[in-house]
Amino acid sequence: MYTEQAHPDAPDMVALVVTGPREHALRRVPRPEPVGDQALVDVSHVALCGTDLRLLRGTLHDADYPTVPGHEWAGVVRAAPTRPELVGRAVVGHNFLPCGSCAWCARGAENLCESLDEIGFSLPGAFAEALCVPAENLRLLPDGVSGAEGCLVEPLCVAVHAVDRAGEVTGRSVGVIGAGAVGLLVAQVARGSGAKSVTVVDPVASRRAVAAELGLGAEADLSRFEADPPEVVFDATGVAALFPRALTATRQGGTCVLVGYSGSEATPFEPSVVMLRELTVVGSLSGVGMIDRAVELVANGVVRLSPLVSPALPLAHYRSVVDTPATEAPLRAFFAVDEETR
Ligand SMILES: [Zn+2]
Ligand SMILES: [Zn+2]
Repeated sequence: MYTEQAHPDAPDMVALVVTGPREHALRRVPRPEPVGDQALVDVSHVALCGTDLRLLRGTLHDADYPTVPGHEWAGVVRAAPTRPELVGRAVVGHNFLPCGSCAWCARGAENLCESLDEIGFSLPGAFAEALCVPAENLRLLPDGVSGAEGCLVEPLCVAVHAVDRAGEVTGRSVGVIGAGAVGLLVAQVARGSGAKSVTVVDPVASRRAVAAELGLGAEADLSRFEADPPEVVFDATGVAALFPRALTATRQGGTCVLVGYSGSEATPFEPSVVMLRELTVVGSLSGVGMIDRAVELVANGVVRLSPLVSPALPLAHYRSVVDTPATEAPLRAFFAVDEETR
């Protein structure tokens, strides 16, 4: 839980504090101090994703206010009492603190944990100069990977889990609806897993251009999938109204993975499409436990992050991003947390 209680003389820092739906501001708050096995990380970069936008706009399920958002980040370790070798190193980290004792944790499905804490949601996140993270959650940023690129390791964990949830993709045709960051990462992971072909669909030309730069097939119109359905389809749009079309765009006997988050939006669809085509429809939630595989995919070049990165903005510009319509926005908004912020 986020709190501003601290000794009046304690050092402070700038953080984005969200106190309720559409109530948010950069404020001076106490600088966190690591306790127990925590490390203190100075944030170098943080990205704002669609889930953060929902948190700020008040359309996220079970939002914990007040909070400091920021779960896609990279930084430099300033203190790590239990892992002093990390001090001064550039790191990324995963944000999950599963309880470790519920039935879901016991079966290794920590993403479904009954009392999962998550940095950037129930715990203070990286839209701040610094944050505390369990030292065991940290991983070194691979050589040659920038801080902004490092922010994409978190959505890459989501993508790795989504491809796992699809079952076998090797030798199968794959379609990805929505060429946002998660969609483009899913597409790259699927290709790295041996998919026969990988095509993304997105009406936004700049996103298709990124897909093309990554060597992926790119189409503007979902009707191309409906005319020749891929065997495995990922819906990475987060737009509820597109879900029925994701089903009709999946080949008979194929698998449709829902990885986009559409809040509490509802949409009518024909269940018999699932029955008549004998589709397998699966959901995919977050990427708990995937960070080692994600870092490895980046380090060995199977997944390229640089084409997904845009110039980092000062933290003070966050409002301009919150107010930008999705179709005009870059794939992700990246913010640099630097001396100017401090
Ligand atoms: Zn995110
Ligand atoms: Zn648990």
